Amino acid sequence: MKITNPATGAVIANVAADNAAAVRRKYEVARAGQDRWAKVPIRKRLDAIARFRDRIVAMQETLARTLTHEVGKPIRQSRNELNGLLGRIDFFLAESLRALRDEKVFADAKQKQEERITHEPLGVVANISAWNYPYFVGSNVFVPALVAGNAVLYKPSEFATLTGLHIAEMLHEAGIPRDVFVPVVGDGATGAALTRQPVDGIFFTGSYGTGAKIAAAAGRRMIKVQLELGGKDPVYVCEDADVGTAAAGIADGAFYNTGQSCCSVERIYVHESIHDAFVAAFVAEVKGFRMGDPMDEATYIGAITRRPQLDVLKRQVADARKKGAKLVTGGSVVRGKGNWFQPTVFTDVDHSMALMKDESFGPIIGIEAVADDEAAVDLMNDTEYGLTAAVYTPDAKRARKILAKVRAGSVYWNCCDRVSPRLPWSGVGHSGIGLTLSTYGIQTFTRPKAWHLRGA
Ligand code: NAD
Repeated sequence: MKITNPATGAVIANVAADNAAAVRRKYEVARAGQDRWAKVPIRKRLDAIARFRDRIVAMQETLARTLTHEVGKPIRQSRNELNGLLGRIDFFLAESLRALRDEKVFADAKQKQEERITHEPLGVVANISAWNYPYFVGSNVFVPALVAGNAVLYKPSEFATLTGLHIAEMLHEAGIPRDVFVPVVGDGATGAALTRQPVDGIFFTGSYGTGAKIAAAAGRRMIKVQLELGGKDPVYVCEDADVGTAAAGIADGAFYNTGQSCCSVERIYVHESIHDAFVAAFVAEVKGFRMGDPMDEATYIGAITRRPQLDVLKRQVADARKKGAKLVTGGSVVRGKGNWFQPTVFTDVDHSMALMKDESFGPIIGIEAVADDEAAVDLMNDTEYGLTAAVYTPDAKRARKILAKVRAGSVYWNCCDRVSPRLPWSGVGHSGIGLTLSTYGIQTFTRPKAWHLRGA
């Protein structure tokens, strides 16, 4: 498999991909290793994760450079991802013992009756991952899965394979056995072969389209399936918000990682009374974003990782223009080597346009004026997705009222495009099923076993 730098189009590595037979052998290796790993005391499993953290710190700059070279992420944002990863690992190190401890939930001395819960590992789990934040979306799964005593078959995205191999190497150096964390290399065909193995759970991060295929492949097997999918995340700016602060925060939320985040802001609704002022402030922010060599410290807009996404963006631009939207800035592919698209802002958009309905996953956004909160909530909920949603207003009561009506896994007041390890990460509708992060996202890699005990 060829690994290409999306910023230049240059081939940077060739790696051997796993065919279906190799995937089967790897499954058997993981199956044989899991039982022994589950018997290792949890404190020792946590020690190995702490050593993995040390390896990341030691390798940080090399890892950041690899990530930038293979996905086109600006180098500062690659470093941010690695720093954020340390915080997530710290959360798992701090909370896993408590989340996975045996619990006595009832005791009646007279009846000699006791009820307990233990957290048994699922067994062998498949972790099929996305490329846009490979350290985040991978570690949300494989760290708690390993801590809980599972063996993990980890398939990084074909667009983040070198990062995936770094992860495997560091985990093995940290003392996670090679038959407990097993990298599987390849594209969608390899991923499909992995879903056909008799695993005990499939944990997937990626698009709705692939998620639906995985759900169908797992369908009759009654195994745990978690799908963390895409979004079309809205923001609503009320007329009492500070326009400058909102514009700066939302522009970052829409264009960080070149708009290639599952929780990127993808739609903006602004109260009509501040629409023009907001658009002016927003466009000024966007025009200040520097696009260029992802290895340059000053770069904010990087390359589009997957070349076919350029066609999705071109189609959304053409469709919006045809239906009467006003192009305020950008709108085109940048000619030359690699995959580049100009930061793009439309106004006068509506929900007949693909730009406001389908995930863009790139540096492009539409801004729509709304008359009141009710209209804003209706539009925010007019989507098949439901990952995140945000509102900007100084009025806490108003924000709570609006956010309570919005169908989304995460809601934000005066912030956006944010993930916390302390909070569950989940989606509604086409944004997926199941969750990661928080203590629920540790327990999700276990089967809680119910013990009904009565003394003789
Ligand atoms: P994708 O669906 O194209 O690929 C994801 C993974 O699935 C890759 O590893 C790929 O090789 C594999 N795959 C492809 N076809 C398969 C098949 N038939 N069977 C099994 N595996 C298969 O998605 P992507 O381009 O890597 O990621 C972008 C998408 O991921 C966006 O929609 C984004 O919103 C979403 N995402 C969601 C979250 C979240 O937490 N909800 C996080 C990051 C990305």
